[in-house]
Formats: sequence, C-alpha cells, structure tokens
Amino acid sequence: MSLLVVENLQKHFGGVRAAKDVSFSLQAGELLAIIGPNGAGKSTTFNMVGGQLKPDKGSVRLAGEDITGLPPRLVWRKGVGRTFQIAQTFVSMSVVENVQMALISSHGQTRAVVPRTAGLHREAARSFLDRVGMADVADKPVNELAYGDVKRVELAIALASDPKLLLMDEPTAGMAPRERTALMELTAEIARTHKIGVLFTEHDMDSVFAHSDRILVLVRGEIIASGTPDEVRGNARVKQVYLGE
Ligand code: ADP
Ligand code: MG
Repeated sequence: MSLLVVENLQKHFGGVRAAKDVSFSLQAGELLAIIGPNGAGKSTTFNMVGGQLKPDKGSVRLAGEDITGLPPRLVWRKGVGRTFQIAQTFVSMSVVENVQMALISSHGQTRAVVPRTAGLHREAARSFLDRVGMADVADKPVNELAYGDVKRVELAIALASDPKLLLMDEPTAGMAPRERTALMELTAEIARTHKIGVLFTEHDMDSVFAHSDRILVLVRGEIIASGTPDEVRGNARVKQVYLGE
C-alpha cells in the first residue's frame, strides 16, 4: 500500500485555479519533490496534504486512512510531520531542550507546565540528535549554532513526533551548496532507514535532481510531468515550459 495517495485535488482562490486534478502517490522511504515556477500551486498542494488548506475537491489518504480536510493538528497526529523554523523565543534554549519540548508536545503534555530543567524525554531527545549528527552540541544554545546545524536540529524536532510522512517546504533555502547537499543526504538516509516518506518543494534544481526519487512538475495548478529525475530531465514539455530551453 502507498503511504500517501492524493487524488484529484482541486483548489480555487476566487477566480484563480491554484490546483486542478492533482494526483500522485508516495511510498514509505521515498523522497518526492514538487517543482514548478512561482505560482504553480506547489504550496497549495503541500498545504492541502498538511491540512492548512481544505481542498474544494479530491482526497488525501495516509496509510489507507482518509485525512482529507482534517485540521493541521489532527493531520499531525495521524503521522504527518513538518519542518518549521525554530521560533525566536526558543533559540536561547539548548538544542536538547528544543527537542525535549517537541517530544513533550507530541506526547500530549503542555509545554508551559514543564519546567525547562525537567529531565523529561532527555534521553529520547539525545537519540534524535544523534540521528541527525548533532549529539555533541546538545547542550549549546541554538543561537550559537551555524545555520546548517540549526536546520539539522529542526529536522530532529520534526522527527521527534515520529512521522510517517515528512513535509519540507524548501528545506535548504538560504544554505550554502555544501550544507544543502549534506542536509539532503541526511534527509534521504533517515527516510530510507526509518521508512519515512518525504514530500518536499525546492527551488534549488541541483538538490532536486540529486536527492529525489521522483519529481512532480506543476505548472498553473496541473501536473505536466512526473517521474524519476532522469525522466523529468528528459521530458520535452518540462524543458520547454519550465526549464526555459
Ligand atoms: P507556488 O507555491 O508554486 O509558488 P502557490 O500554491 O503559492 O504557488 O500559489 C498558486 C496560485 O494560487 C497563485 O496564483 C497564487 O497567487 C494563488 N494563491 C495561493 N494562495 C492564495 C491565497 N491564500 N489567496 C489567494 N490566492 C492564493
Ligand atoms: Mg510556494
């Protein structure tokens, strides 16, 4: 069974058709990239999977269960994680405390009642940091880390909710090329080892072609091509419409 099955998703904003008949599936352990020019409907599609937007039509199924139109919190509970930037409020806290908070939150406890120094989930938090290669900086405040390392911690935070599917909106934005490669390689390795499906959007074409198993190309709300990086690279319509060749 596919981990994620999206069928005929449609979304209009007033007269703008942001997504039309968007259908695709994603397997556990697979990295699927959505690319396309600005305004193509990438974020709209992404947000219909994550629950931030309700589709006008169509369905989203996760591991066989219909999650169409559920609010984000419930979609998250069903196993759809998302990477977020660490909020400014939390950057003075240590790396491990940030992951502990994510664990506390995913176990249904309220962050506010847990003292910062609590040992709750500390060992588990360290194991998630180990997974992203950040165990040695566990006790540093987040605001003392290099940008690429902050991104790794954000990945550990997303993994702490034990997702089946991980949504990443432009995960490597603002990163230097070498850091980008490292983060995408790490993401791919984690996806494969833990059988997590990864759906991501990305501007950087080198990252997309190097690190995705399959690619969807959206233009004006419609999928004009999909396939492996080689198939998409060689697709005449993609070259014409999207890559400008
Ligand atoms: P992408 O992420 O590929 O750049 P979007 O999904 O953000 O594209 O947008 C697709 C289209 O829908 C665009 O024409 C955009 O202007 C429009 N759109 C997106 N979100 C909204 C919104 N909340 N209200 C009105 N129009 C929107
Ligand atoms: Mg977008």
